[in-house]
Parts: sequence; structure tokens; C-alpha cells
Amino acid sequence: GEYRRPVVSGNWKLNPMTSGEAKETLKLLAANQRALEESGKDIPEVILFPPYPFIPLASELLEGTTVAIGGQDCSLHDKGAFTGEVSVSQLASLGCNHLLVGHSERRTLFDETDVEVNKKVHLGLNAGLRVMICIGETEDEFNVNLADAVNEIQVKKALAGVTAAQMEDITIAYEPVWAIGTGKVCDAPTAQEVHSAVRRVLDELYPNTGVAGRTRILYGGSVTPESIDVIMREPDVDGVLVGGASLMADKFSRIIDFS
Ligand code: PEP
Repeated sequence: GEYRRPVVSGNWKLNPMTSGEAKETLKLLAANQRALEESGKDIPEVILFPPYPFIPLASELLEGTTVAIGGQDCSLHDKGAFTGEVSVSQLASLGCNHLLVGHSERRTLFDETDVEVNKKVHLGLNAGLRVMICIGETEDEFNVNLADAVNEIQVKKALAGVTAAQMEDITIAYEPVWAIGTGKVCDAPTAQEVHSAVRRVLDELYPNTGVAGRTRILYGGSVTPESIDVIMREPDVDGVLVGGASLMADKFSRIIDFS
């Protein structure tokens, strides 16, 4: 198979409650990351998705490390009378290089549709951001063997109109909804099966381009320092998207330092 550099990403969601707490975590994370980078080990690409108001603080405190910053979502609009929204241009102008789209919480709690996810993918790419697209089936869908069908539809709809060249800036995060924030980690062989099915979908969408072999497919759902090493051993698992455990600098750093 092709070499794909692993990615460890952290999604802080609506946490922590204050910038003071964010600052403490970011300082620890920066110190851990500097030590890891100086160790000479092979380290993964690291991306942090903090809440919008903490993005400048994260950039400042992580400066000099290789940790990149991204937005957890974006507005469908670029500017104007859309109170409370945050645009891709604003994110890019703050130094964000990444954008998370289609997180299951956006889809389920905020009724985000596949069409909106696809629009955000294009907005991110056009603003020069690298886009991480979240997909994943619910527990009911998983139980009736619909995981592959659901993920295929979500991938195809999210990538509508995305060219093979643009796929260089796309990462897929498979996050089974039933494993997010539940402590139920998808077992590694099951994740591997889904990831290889998603890679086959990419091969169908972008045949003879090398896209399927190059695209990183991450796993997300209750990843912890205890589960990271096993899941990363699967050949089609190219990294992780971490929620809860990314809020604790020592846990997140241990996940980054997986073996
Ligand atoms: C997530 O929300 O992307 C996630 C994977 O959360 P957790 O790690 O807390 O399950």
C-alpha cells in the first residue's frame, strides 16, 4: 500500500467554558508537543479544532509547534447580515489552515444536511483550507448492517463536484455516531472494514488517479490513550479525530505519541 502520513486531530466542541481554562490546556499541550518534536520520533500531523473565540489564543500558544488550527464548522455565507455566523474567510484570516465539516453533532443537533455539508466543503476548499469531512452511521443503521450504505451516500454527497486535484486537501473522518462520546469504541477490525469500504468508494469516484490510496481516512469515537495503539495498527486507519480526550493535554499528547 501507499504511505499516508498519520493525522491526530482534536475537536474541543463547546469546551472548555473559559479562555483561562483553554490557556492552561494549550500551554501544557504546547510544552508536550515541543518535547515530542525534539525527541526525533516520527510524529503525526496534528490538528486542533478549538471553539472559534479561542482560535487566536490557540495560534499564539501553539506557535513554534507543528500543531495546525482549524474551525469546527463555518457559515454557508461569506459576509453580510448573518448574525452569529463565522465565515471561512474569517477563519483563514486568523491563520486557520483546516476546516471540520459535517460532524454528527452538526448533522443531528443542528439538522445539517448532506447538501449543506457539500457547500461547506467547497467554501473551505475555495478559501484555501484543508477540509476534514465527518461521516458515520447511527447505532440503528449499524445494527441492521447499513453502515457501508450510509457512509457511501455521505461520502458521495459530501464530495459532489470535488475534483481529484482538490482531493489533496480532503481528509475523511469516519465517526460511528454510536461511538461518539459514549465510551463505546468501535473495535479495530470493524473500523478497518468500514475504512476499506470508504476507500473503495473513493476509488469508484476517482478511478485511476491514486486518490483512494492517498486520502487519509481517520477514525473517531471515544479514542483514548488506552485504545489508540490498537486502532492505529489497522492498515486503512490513517489517524484519529478525538473529542473528549483532546481536552486533557496529557491524554491528547499520549494519543499523538501513539505506537
Ligand atoms: C468527536 O466528537 O469527534 C469525537 C470523536 O468525540 P469523542 O472522542 O469524545 O467520542
